[in-house]
Amino acid sequence: MIQEAITHYLQKHSQTCLYPKAVLFDMDGVLYDSMRFHARAWYEVATRHHLIASIEDFYLFEGRTGEGTINELFQRTFHRNATEEETRTIYEEKSDLFRAYNDGTPMPGAADVLEKVKASGLQRLVVTGSGQHSLIDKLNHTYPGHFSREKMVTAFDVKIGKPHPEPYLMGLQKAGVKAHEAFVVENAPMGVEAAVAAGIFTIAVNTGPLPDQTLLDAGADLLYPDMNALANDWDNLMKAARRIQLTP
Ligand code: CA
Repeated sequence: MIQEAITHYLQKHSQTCLYPKAVLFDMDGVLYDSMRFHARAWYEVATRHHLIASIEDFYLFEGRTGEGTINELFQRTFHRNATEEETRTIYEEKSDLFRAYNDGTPMPGAADVLEKVKASGLQRLVVTGSGQHSLIDKLNHTYPGHFSREKMVTAFDVKIGKPHPEPYLMGLQKAGVKAHEAFVVENAPMGVEAAVAAGIFTIAVNTGPLPDQTLLDAGADLLYPDMNALANDWDNLMKAARRIQLTP
């Protein structure tokens, strides 16, 4: 399966080989088991503002900017975009609830994946739509020795947000690598779309409630049920990535 995935990627991008130098990690649902808190906070605030929404919607919208999500709900409910004032109010209420619910639980297996990636000699970067303050302190606390402030893409860097490739293109730039020299680890359909649109080999981990097919339809090159499964398969993936070479 790894072999087919890499061969397919190389053919699609007219490359002869991968040259792994960096892994770009999404944050919520990949490094932290936090998506259930985001979904709950969004759902409660949406209901409070009489917006049509289900819990599952927020797993489908995951990766978008707050403004993008709020406009989607306003269009669906009121057939118009939210005003600046409405956007600010709703996003603040959502962020307050998320902070209250979020317990900072790391995603099981994520620390193992990071250690494997480090042992393989690859850079580790975070690419997230999150605008939480002191994110780097939080990351350094949970995953010491892996991330640096200069090598992060957050809500403060991006204008457009996923599923647009912008965040991941910025991630490549900060890592100083080309698309075929990186991997992305993502859990959300729109995050996968963004990474694929940036031309990067994209590993999906289905840590949420959506069917696997939503991640495959978004274009994921490989799919694992969780971060533990990816950690267990990492060495196989690296061996294949460094071995497979197509004839030009
Ligand atoms: Ca995510």
